[in-house]
Amino acid sequence: MRRLPALLAVSALALGLAACGAPAGDDGELQIALLLPENKTARYESHDRPAFVDRVHEICAECETLVSNADQDAAHQQAQAEAAITNGADVLVLDPVDSRSAAVIVRQAQAAGVPVVSYDRMVLDVPVDFHVTFDNEQVGALQAEVLLAAVGDTDGDLVVLNGSPTDDNSALFRRGAHSVLDGAGVAVGAEVDVPDWSPDQAQEAMERALTTLGRDRVAGVYAANDGMAGGAIAAMKAAGLDPLPPVTGQDAELAAIRRILTGEQYMTVYKAVRTQAERAADVAVSLARTGEPPDGLRNSWVDNGHDRIPALMLDPVAVTRDTIAETVVADGFWSAGEICEGL
Ligand code: BGC
Repeated sequence: MRRLPALLAVSALALGLAACGAPAGDDGELQIALLLPENKTARYESHDRPAFVDRVHEICAECETLVSNADQDAAHQQAQAEAAITNGADVLVLDPVDSRSAAVIVRQAQAAGVPVVSYDRMVLDVPVDFHVTFDNEQVGALQAEVLLAAVGDTDGDLVVLNGSPTDDNSALFRRGAHSVLDGAGVAVGAEVDVPDWSPDQAQEAMERALTTLGRDRVAGVYAANDGMAGGAIAAMKAAGLDPLPPVTGQDAELAAIRRILTGEQYMTVYKAVRTQAERAADVAVSLARTGEPPDGLRNSWVDNGHDRIPALMLDPVAVTRDTIAETVVADGFWSAGEICEGL
């Protein structure tokens, strides 16, 4: 049901529109808002958005979608959320730029009676209705396991580039990675939290690490996602490292898959983002129609500092050169043609 902005609703009542049966404010449509965090990482526009929108329209003839992307600006995301609520959103599916400050968005939504699905990243310290995500500690653990196997016995150093400190997922990836790296016998020579998941800032952090540690000391690079892996690789190429040490990533971005094929990047983590977006659409439509998430979808609970939130947690998959065909290609994430086109 479309909620009218307060002023409009008041004037509709004053004019007796509801009593006359006029459609204002109740055109039978449900509005589902998807709030994405940024667009330097390709997944949001290439996969999350289209998969979410297609699924909503597939299962809900009376639904409209409203999608925005905050371009890594938390204040902008709050304004986008307020606009969605004012425009009558029945559900917010929120992938927060800032997991803590986004609690304000959730409280505003609740005050307007709008349920919130925390999408991919958790909103902390506030009640949300459902969480659709991946096993994020497992993402970090997979990255670290594959990296350690690739560097083997070494007295060199690892460089660790974590994601944005405002994203709760970064802490989970980091925890998962350290559960494998700590005590494994390979030294972490430098570790940096890269603001905004910025590939450029990852490149600068890598340049600094090469200077501080010495370029011949770097045995491997833990980069939390593919965008930052690209930045780290650019820094090492510019410094003339040849061969490049193994570098991790995440998201199975097209550019990363191509780098893995050409040997510049060692691995990425494939997350079936299409499935994630489709299940989030299922939850959102159910919440809009009935106020409840669908039965049988929850497979986990995640503590967000306020409460245990019912969650669907999907499994990430490590991808190296040998497993591209049986993972991202077999799953239809990228076709062989799309991958080869840019090589
Ligand atoms: C997502 C990753 C993404 C990163 C940067 C994380 O919260 O889980 O898939 O690479 O944010 O947007």
